[in-house]
Amino acid sequence: MFASAGDLEKYAYCPLSWWLSKKHKVVYKEGVKKHKEIQRELKEIQKKESRIKFYEKHILFFATASTILAIAGLALLGSVENVLKYFFVTVALFWLLNSAFFLYRGSKAPPILKIRYEKLLLVSSMGALIVAFFVILFSIAPNKEISKFVEILSLLWVIIASLIFYRSLYLAEKIVEKKIKYAPLESEIEYVGTDAAEEIISEKYELRGKPDYIIRVGDDYIPVEEKTTERNAPHLPHVIQLTAYCMLIEDKYGKSPPYGIIRYKNVQFKVPYELRWKEMVLELKKKMEEDLKRGEAHRNHYNIKKCKNCVRKEFCPERLA
Ligand code: SF4
Repeated sequence: MFASAGDLEKYAYCPLSWWLSKKHKVVYKEGVKKHKEIQRELKEIQKKESRIKFYEKHILFFATASTILAIAGLALLGSVENVLKYFFVTVALFWLLNSAFFLYRGSKAPPILKIRYEKLLLVSSMGALIVAFFVILFSIAPNKEISKFVEILSLLWVIIASLIFYRSLYLAEKIVEKKIKYAPLESEIEYVGTDAAEEIISEKYELRGKPDYIIRVGDDYIPVEEKTTERNAPHLPHVIQLTAYCMLIEDKYGKSPPYGIIRYKNVQFKVPYELRWKEMVLELKKKMEEDLKRGEAHRNHYNIKKCKNCVRKEFCPERLA
């Protein structure tokens, strides 16, 4: 039997609550709304990050193409009038100033933007170098119309490359504020558990589920569970649910996550993926299967507070409060 991480969470709270949940669905409108909003923001971040990657791939293409064109232009070089020479000198100076600006911004930027500013600086410096190189060569070589055309084309390509970088940087700056709310800036959002998302299934552990989202930090895939309540410490049923997600990830990606994250309204916790929690998940799963076979489940605690806070107490024949 494949158990869902959500069911394990309910079972860990109280087996009877899990049993009653089959007949009595309790929907928190506010919780559902909040989760939808989080999913929408995460999908938007994911979309923008993939667009940035697309731009970055293309910038390399444009920068390479402009360099090739510049080299081709050198082969066909000709002399130019003074006006054109001064034009190139001005453009070269502009590129140098541009580079200095990106150098300054890069030194003040957070790590995610720093990399982008550095790339921008690289392209900008490349543009300056190419144009300056042309100025020197134009001064010493004979004039050839075709050479002028190729060199101007090369310059245009560098400009296009820079415009794409500006766009990429603009997008990166826009998502920083949003992303920092949900995940470290150096991470990538790998999966968002929307309604349309595919459920993750583990044949090995016979578990299934949809984490709220999964982030990739280096080589590690980390499940993140969003809760709409406030807490001072991780709640055991939530740790069980998160551990079940860690088990799903371990089976799906072939690598155990070092920890999972539970984000409460007021605080977030990194919960280590430990054997004791894993064993508890498997033990609860076994008990669930036994209850299913028997066709009944009962309260397994004497905690009045638990019953007071239970969302299914009004349907419960064994409640303590
Ligand atoms: S009211 Fe108490 S006994 Fe009943 S389902 Fe809830 S926690 Fe369990």
